[in-house]
Amino acid sequence: MRLLCDEMLGRLARWLRAAGHDTRLATPGQDDRAVLWTAIAEDRLLLSRDRGFAERKAATGRLLLLESSAVPEQARELRRRLGLDWLAAPFTRCVVDNAHLRPASSAERARLPGGARRIGGPYFACPACGRLYWAGDHHARMRARLEDWAGS
Ligand SMILES: [Zn+2]
Repeated sequence: MRLLCDEMLGRLARWLRAAGHDTRLATPGQDDRAVLWTAIAEDRLLLSRDRGFAERKAATGRLLLLESSAVPEQARELRRRLGLDWLAAPFTRCVVDNAHLRPASSAERARLPGGARRIGGPYFACPACGRLYWAGDHHARMRARLEDWAGS
């Protein structure tokens, strides 16, 4: 499922990426028409809380208006209304820019903090921004939330 979050849903976008969903975040300041055009051009479903979108013809079949304002409720709403799988492919995308992660090179692994190195891998890197990912405590907490959303 290819998704586009409007600019107010930045936190939700990060969680969708953490679950492995191809999720773009609308550029801040873009007007509604440009956001919808992106959804159409990239064949994405637009997620928004802005009812103004629903009045636009171009939004037909292209928009899911979220009722909830907090991320955990939004997560459950997406599962209920779209059948979205919160454990689709966890930790395979960069939460910042949506790029597919790849195994970290030895040069990248050399940049890891000591605590991360003690875990022993696997380690992943984002080809777009260079951010490194590993299965630390933060990762475990995120995984627990994804499992909660997937099962509720
Ligand atoms: Zn990145």
